[in-house]
Amino acid sequence: MQTTAETSRPLAVSFDNSYAHLPERFYARLDPAPTAKPRLIKFNSALAAELGLDVSGVSADALAQLFSGNLRLPGAEPLAMVYAGHQFGHFVPKLGDGRAILLGEVRDVAGVRRDIQLKGSGRTPFSRDGDGRAAVGPVLREYVVSEAMHALGVPTTRALAIVATGESVYRERRLPGAILTRVAASHVRVGTFQFFAARGDSEAVKLLADFVIDRHYPEIREAEAPYVALFRAVAERQARLIACWMHVGFIHGVMNTDNTAISGETIDFGPCAFMDAYDPAAVFSSIDTAGRYAYANQPHIAHWNLARFAETLLPLMNPILERAVELANEALSAFGPQFEQHWLSGMRRKLGLFTAEDEDAALVRGLLDAMHRQQADFTLTFRKLCDASGGQKFDASVRALFADAAAYDEWATMWRSRLARESLPASARAESMRHANPAFIPRNHRLEQAIQAAVEHEDFTLFADLLRVLSQPYEDQEGFESYGTAPGTSERVLQTFCGT
Ligand code: AMP
Ligand code: MG
Repeated sequence: MQTTAETSRPLAVSFDNSYAHLPERFYARLDPAPTAKPRLIKFNSALAAELGLDVSGVSADALAQLFSGNLRLPGAEPLAMVYAGHQFGHFVPKLGDGRAILLGEVRDVAGVRRDIQLKGSGRTPFSRDGDGRAAVGPVLREYVVSEAMHALGVPTTRALAIVATGESVYRERRLPGAILTRVAASHVRVGTFQFFAARGDSEAVKLLADFVIDRHYPEIREAEAPYVALFRAVAERQARLIACWMHVGFIHGVMNTDNTAISGETIDFGPCAFMDAYDPAAVFSSIDTAGRYAYANQPHIAHWNLARFAETLLPLMNPILERAVELANEALSAFGPQFEQHWLSGMRRKLGLFTAEDEDAALVRGLLDAMHRQQADFTLTFRKLCDASGGQKFDASVRALFADAAAYDEWATMWRSRLARESLPASARAESMRHANPAFIPRNHRLEQAIQAAVEHEDFTLFADLLRVLSQPYEDQEGFESYGTAPGTSERVLQTFCGT
């Protein structure tokens, strides 16, 4: 990236597009709208390598031209995908990519097909009243949080590049515009199925289901009832995904069916947030006034979204409606227990339990209740428990997180008698707990500070520091301790915005 535009080598991307070869009614073909003065803000070289993109000798200017959409990469077949979706429980029959363009698909070094999509790349036939653009703030936010989620081990879409457009976008005020390059296992959503199902286009639903099976669930190609198996597989991945979110205190904020990826990746980082003090009712999104997407409600919403997905598959599950409904309900009923299982096994790891006992769930809930009542910081409590697992003499730093430390002491007595029945040596246990309990999460106040510095002063140093710290969330990092601490009262961020 040191070379100038004149000496740049062209970037070769081996596109291998499949979505673009579905029938025309699945998308609208169009090029991204050109931007005035694209400038590369950030490029994810590690992800590029994972995708098999060789960017050596490709100049920053050339990357800016390509990842703004100003120049079309050979082999790209740009398109905006159509989809529908339930937004806050209300069905919208036609949404679609209003500000995103899928450039195409590549096979990564592991052979997995990945979408490369520009977000903020201009108006499309699905833009409705929107400008098709994105402000730099939400773009930085998505970059930081999606990459942090990846480093935390949570399935997620990734961020490959940020390009400043050199143009302004108008929200409540004038803001610098930017384009994010997003990488996803695919961009097919529950809402994509809903779009066709709502129009009674059962041929398209079947094509889409077969596409998804081929791409994400090839093992069920030969299943006896492939569409029931597809539903089960998607539900299983959602159960695992939501459990991962719960383990790191993540609140997605806008779990609409159009933001539920069939691949099981976290997608759409609009008003998302990680909580500081533990509160099951935590909501940050300014538009989620009823708390529909509150932290503790996420498993229920995932279940609801899966029910909407199942509805789209009914005709494929069985030609007799009653039988199809029976099959769907039976499959859907597996979600709750699956989620509980993923949740509990992750919580056991967080508490240093490597065997399973019946009372473990109650032990976990006992801790969470105490944390809630005593406003203990979610991330710090679990991180400090890694040390405390070594014995009562290491309790001070956990106790300090509880308004009334006696609540912790009472729980810790039970925890210690449970730990006594574990055979792993204490040092190995603490080490293993450190890999289940991050020291660093993208704290809202840190994100806001980084975004503010970038927007107001074009200063990206905080953004770079955040990315660096969050790339190794399970390691203590000397000199960056302050990124692990909870916000002071005046720093607390209580609301997030979609920023669209
Ligand atoms: P989101 O809230 O990001 O999930 O977006 C919901 C829907 O609104 C999607 O169809 C988006 O493509 C569309 N949308 C969001 N922001 C814009 C924008 N600035 N211009 C056009 N469409 C948008
Ligand atoms: Mg969305």
